[in-house]
Amino acid sequence: MKNINNIVDKEVNEIKLIHSFQDACSNKEFYEFIKALPIEEEILIKYTSLLEDSFIEYKNCKNCKGLNHCKNSVSGYCYTPKKENKIIKFSYVACKRKEKNLEENAYKENLELFDMPKEIKEATLKEVYTDDKSRVPIIRYFKEFMDQYNKKESPKGLYLTGSFGSGKTYLIASLLNEMAKKKVCCALVYYPEFLRSLKSSFQTDYNERFNFIKTSPILLLDDIGAENESNWSRDEVLGPILQYRMQNHLPTFFTSNLTLEELENSLSITSSGVDKVKARRIIERIKQLTIPMELIGKNRRN
Ligand code: ADP
Ligand code: MG
Repeated sequence: MKNINNIVDKEVNEIKLIHSFQDACSNKEFYEFIKALPIEEEILIKYTSLLEDSFIEYKNCKNCKGLNHCKNSVSGYCYTPKKENKIIKFSYVACKRKEKNLEENAYKENLELFDMPKEIKEATLKEVYTDDKSRVPIIRYFKEFMDQYNKKESPKGLYLTGSFGSGKTYLIASLLNEMAKKKVCCALVYYPEFLRSLKSSFQTDYNERFNFIKTSPILLLDDIGAENESNWSRDEVLGPILQYRMQNHLPTFFTSNLTLEELENSLSITSSGVDKVKARRIIERIKQLTIPMELIGKNRRN
């Protein structure tokens, strides 16, 4: 008796499936959608409800107004059926626009930001203002840098000084973004905040953070000189980072509102007193690592 019941149940279910499939196919657009799939009807019949979900997304894609307007459940992806042996598997497949977008943004994976605004990853050399003559030697240097990188001994970075808002950070970031597009990993560090967070990570991931910065193939220490100096930050953080990078020829960039002379002065005075020798040693390392340049310009901040 049990067996007969099972057979009857199975048949009833099959009939239900066929009915709901036929119902769905009364929608001409849906019918055309499934007809175009390289899947036999006897298999399709079992997936009406999922095919309908997929159809909704397919229609959204047909009327696409751009990635930012995507109506699909996972933006940029379409819920797509694919036959595998005798079953259909559904998965979210990136659309052409999303694929292009993913490709164009892949370089961002090579950029590690520490307390920097994430928009900095969008900075591009193409957009660097050309109305300003003080940028010309810097851009020329960038071209040389890109040319030389990996060819012989790695080129030096820049110590870029200049007034607040003149575009120093943007400029260096635009070079590092280009390098990231060439698959070089770069770390961009807002130095004053990095020191604060490093200090509070003694119990946790201090070594990991410190070593990451120290060994990054290209490093930007942004706004150096704006931090509160202490013996610890000068002698235990900055000193060893610069020493390691010098020995390993790792390009290092700095931006600062201070000239090297002003930075030396600032580094010599800490809360524990005055130490001109230690400050001098740091400046010597920066000089070994970089070429000093100046960016003079109006404040671009609004
Ligand atoms: P600085 O580091 O010298 O203080 P920033 O690099 O932060 O200056 O630049 C100041 C502002 O101007 C920022 O908001 C930055 O995004 C913008 N900016 C600077 N240079 C450019 C550029 N070439 N194109 C677009 N925006 C820029
Ligand atoms: Mg800056």
